[in-house]
Order: sequence, then C-alpha cells, then structure tokens
Amino acid sequence: MKNVVVIGGGIIGLSSAYYLQQSGHRVTVIDKGDFLDNCSYGNAGYVCPSHFIPLATPGIVWKGLKWMLNSRSPFYVRPSLNRSLIDWGFRFIKSATHKKVEAAAVPLTDIALLSQQEYKAWSALPGFDFAYQQKGLLEIFQTHIVAEHAKHSIEKGRELGLDAELISYEELQKMEPQTKINALGAIFFKCDSHLYPNKLMTVLINDLTKKGVQLIANEEVKGFEKDGRRITKVITSKNEHEGEEIVIATGAWSREIAAMVDTRISMMPGRGYSLTLENSKYLLNHPAILVEGRVAVSPMDGNKIRFGGTMEVVPVTAPPRYHRVEGILKSVKRFFPEFEIAMPSTDKLWYGYRPCSADGLPYLGRINSYKNVVVATGHAMLGLSLGAGTGKLVSELINEKEPSINISAFKVERFG
Ligand SMILES: Cc1cc2nc3c(=O)[nH]c(=O)nc-3n(C[C@H](O)[C@H](O)[C@H](O)COP(=O)(O)OP(=O)(O)OC[C@H]3O[C@@H](n4cnc5c(N)ncnc54)[C@H](O)[C@@H]3O)c2cc1C
Repeated sequence: MKNVVVIGGGIIGLSSAYYLQQSGHRVTVIDKGDFLDNCSYGNAGYVCPSHFIPLATPGIVWKGLKWMLNSRSPFYVRPSLNRSLIDWGFRFIKSATHKKVEAAAVPLTDIALLSQQEYKAWSALPGFDFAYQQKGLLEIFQTHIVAEHAKHSIEKGRELGLDAELISYEELQKMEPQTKINALGAIFFKCDSHLYPNKLMTVLINDLTKKGVQLIANEEVKGFEKDGRRITKVITSKNEHEGEEIVIATGAWSREIAAMVDTRISMMPGRGYSLTLENSKYLLNHPAILVEGRVAVSPMDGNKIRFGGTMEVVPVTAPPRYHRVEGILKSVKRFFPEFEIAMPSTDKLWYGYRPCSADGLPYLGRINSYKNVVVATGHAMLGLSLGAGTGKLVSELINEKEPSINISAFKVERFG
C-alpha cells in the first residue's frame, strides 16, 4: 500500500482515485476548487467510442481559420503572441494530417471501449445511479457534403468493430416522432452511451468519501519538494502533503503543473458552453450531434435536455463570451425548428475548459524526469468518455501492472 496524492478533482482525478483506493492505496485528492464545478460537470455526457477522430484534423484547421471571423462560430482561437499558444498551434497544425488521424483511431477506440465497459460496470453497483444509458448517438446532418463523408465514417467505424449505420431522414424522424427535424439523414452510432455528468461526479465524491479517500478542497498546488528523482511532498497554498506516488490530473491547468516537474506538455484550454433545461417540454429519445452546427444535444436524467458547444482556445483568464451561446441556440433552431429557446440570463449558462492537447490525444503515463509521477490529462473533447478507462489505466501504472490496453500513443513526452 502506498500514499498516493492525486492533484485535480475532475473526472480524471476522481476515477483515478476510485481505482487506486480499490487496489488498496491510501489516496488523497487535492483540488483548488470545491469539487463541485469543473469541466467534468456541464459537459454533454457522451461516452462515445464513435469519436475515434481526434480534434486535430486537416478539415478543422481550414474551417477554424474561416470561423475565426465570426464571433458566434463554433471554433475560435484568440490570436496572441503567447508562447504556449504558438507552440500549441504549430503542433496542432502538424498533427492535423490524414496519417496521424488514421493512427489515432485504434488507440482512441481502445481506451473509449475500456472506459465504456467500466462505466457500465459502475452503473450496476449499488448507489451508483448516474443515469447511464446505452441508446446510441445520432450524428444528424443537413448537407450533401457531410452525407458523403458520413459513408466514410461508417466504413471506418465498422472497421474498428463499432456498430454504426446510415439512416435516412424518414428513419430519423421515426426515431424522434415528437420532434420535427430539418435534416438529410444521420449516422446512428449504436455503440455509444450517455450519462448525466453532474450525478456521476456526485456519486463518485460520495463513494470516495465513504471509503476514506481524503478529498481536500480549496488548496491550490503551487510546487513540489524533491529528493533526487523523486517527489516527496506536494506543496499547496495552505499545506504540504507527503506522497509516494503523485498523479497530475489538473485538466486545462496541467501544462503549468507538469512544468513544475520539468515536463513539457503542449496544451491549451478549449472553452465550451452549455445550457440545461431542467424540465424540458422539448425531448429527444437519443443524444444527438448537429454536425454542421457543431452542437451537442443530450437528453439526460429524465426530462432534462442539455445543449452544448463551441471551442474557444483562450487562456482561462479570458472573460466568458456568452453571446457564443446564441450561436448554439441558432444551430439548434436550424435543426429543430420547433425548439423556441430564448437566450437565458448568464447565471443559467455554464462554461468549462477542455484540456486540449495539441493532437487531441490524452497524455497518459509516467514521466521521464521523476520516478513517482503519473500524468493523466489532455483528453480535450473526450475527458468524460475516457474518464473511467483513464482511471483504471492510472491505477495499473502505479501498481506496475500490464495496462489493459496499449497506451504508447498517449506518451506524455511525445512532442519532445
Ligand atoms: C461544452 C462541453 C461539452 C463536453 N462534452 C463532452 C462529452 O459529451 N463527452 C466527453 O467525453 N467530454 C466532453 N467534454 C470534455 C470533458 O468535459 C473534459 O474533457 C473533462 O471534463 C476533463 O476532465 P479533467 O478531469 O481532465 O478536468 P477538469 O474536470 O477540469 O478537472 C481538473 C481539476 O483540476 C483542478 N486543478 C487545476 N489546477 C490545480 C492546482 N494547481 N491545484 C489543485 N487543483 C487544480 C481544477 O480545479 C479542476 O477541478 C465537454 C466539454 C465541454 C466544455
């Protein structure tokens, strides 16, 4: 049994703590916040092996340049001479090649399937009600160009062993009889599931607390005490915590924390917004992505429906641009013309920072500079989906066990 300090109480930190506690370690999780709001709460809740294409693709680079001129567009990079942004942008463009996208598909599918298997197992545990459902995911499209591309996605998905089919407009409308849809058709990824993230996080916090995991809120990690090639203490704004193993799971803040242990990772925060109708009169039977609008629509936990989207690559200190949510609502109306959703007051809107690695793949593994540090971050748009699987892999790394899947594509120092 070891003393393990996990830094960061998002889904990655908490699921790591879950498996570490289960394998017999004494675990402490430290967070600079109160564990009640981070990127792992207001997201769309997709557990999606169908997302085998990472964020960095050849198409997004050109679309991104076009979208940057429109303040309500789904993708935005705030131009700046900031060194980390330039480094990230350079590596992002270098990663956005067909060859690299192709190479990412198997590792992303493997970790997603592992994670989905773990979520499914959790959902059967007593007290683990987080509204987990395997109903699939609809990728709804309106244009012929996307319809053409959909055929390729289905073919690729099937090659990876995923259950996917192209459905016509009529079939789509039959699956959602209560909602009028403007579309040409959809891909139905039957392999996907979804859950209610807010409940998942609450369930995990309660379970870990009950099992004696120490959850320390409102302490910001500021540095480390080192002895040769080992970290001996985690220094926070209030205390010092001894640890034999350290896990860095600090989401969009991980570049700075990794630098404190002499490890460079290329990462930028990718801000996204969501809006949840608690008792919605508009309902869908299946979670959906409105492809051309880049919007996620998730029915969750009974009568709730959540709309989420936008990717703003900005520092975490940049003030929120709530008018971007108008862009989300406009896209929703284009696909679901009967959805009349007025722009709510800003206190009803949520935003969070996705930890976007430069190539869209997680950073997961031990680092070179110190022997007792594992980094688990950089999951970008997939942190919830890959959360349970990442936690399991973190515990396997610390237990010196053969990982459940090959994680070489996620090497922390892959950019040198
Ligand atoms: C609109 C939107 C929709 C999304 N939809 C989906 C989806 O459907 N499926 C999916 O898989 N993903 C989705 N995502 C992405 C997903 O939410 C993230 O990838 C995931 O939540 C990241 O989890 P994390 O644990 O790495 O980071 P976080 O949840 O951000 O947790 C990191 C924690 O580290 C703490 N921390 C940071 N620095 C320090 C420090 N110095 N000291 C102590 N603590 C520190 C923070 O306070 C925070 O609590 C979405 C994101 C957005 C914005």
